Amino acid sequence: MRPPGRVGTGKCVLVSASGTSCHEPMTPSDSAGPGTVVTRVTGAVMPVNSYLVDCGPGVVVVDAQLCVSDAAAVRAAVEASGKPLLAVLLTHPHPDHYAGAEVLTRGLDVPVVATRAVADVVAADDGEKQAVVGPMMGDEWPASRRFPDQIVADDATLTWGEQHFTVASWGAAESHADTTWSLADGTVFAGDLVYDAEHAYLADGHGERWLRVLDRFAATLDPGARLLPGHGAGGGPELVDRQAAYVRTFLDAVSAALDDDPVAREQRVLDAVRPLARSDGLLFLARLSIEPTVGVMRDHGGERSA
Ligand SMILES: [Zn+2]
Repeated sequence: MRPPGRVGTGKCVLVSASGTSCHEPMTPSDSAGPGTVVTRVTGAVMPVNSYLVDCGPGVVVVDAQLCVSDAAAVRAAVEASGKPLLAVLLTHPHPDHYAGAEVLTRGLDVPVVATRAVADVVAADDGEKQAVVGPMMGDEWPASRRFPDQIVADDATLTWGEQHFTVASWGAAESHADTTWSLADGTVFAGDLVYDAEHAYLADGHGERWLRVLDRFAATLDPGARLLPGHGAGGGPELVDRQAAYVRTFLDAVSAALDDDPVAREQRVLDAVRPLARSDGLLFLARLSIEPTVGVMRDHGGERSA
């Protein structure tokens, strides 16, 4: 899953705030409460987002990056805040969201928090990820990985300082176990349930279920909700429809190309989804997803169900 070179920026972006920051400010969302300061750190080796939430006495980080240097950049951003790291929350069990947790927390007495389902998939799949992703990433693959060690209920609310984080559990969708974390002000850390106009990963084979989950997820969102995704900049509830369109387009294209040879099929599918993505930075995720999706469809007699 190695991305094509250094496609990210490694930069920090303030995504909602009432105060000032050393990072590039973006327009604060109306939905962001007056005390909510969220800073996004996007990996430079792989463009995946971690979010730093200022809770008053300390910082909570949502998602922990894939690569050593990207996780170190998140850690540096926490240190630059001048506040202690209080916890790391995981949205789902893909390695680009958990593998950097050990680098991020080394030497610190800080929990890595997830639901049982997320923790179980991390534990079950880490060996395979090590075997497959490790060689692709070389020195950037964290040699040791921390697994979740604070397991929370599927709908738990946890409080650090001034902020209340509520988890919602969606079951299999983009990954084998997707969750989102919400703040009381309408900010939703969407993990990879919703990307922001970036190519998506469907190799876990749950595309049809992902579409149904997106319907349920959309029904929970207030019009002013602010979605902060695992990949891309973020926005309002309109991101959900865009993600559904991407998943549907991908599945339709694979279905239409089932009888093509793999080379022609790849071309056809990537041509179909390219107009829906802002960049090719994560095109490799779509490419990696085609043949597994073919397998799911063939297992279901040509049906797209998963
Ligand atoms: Zn991801």
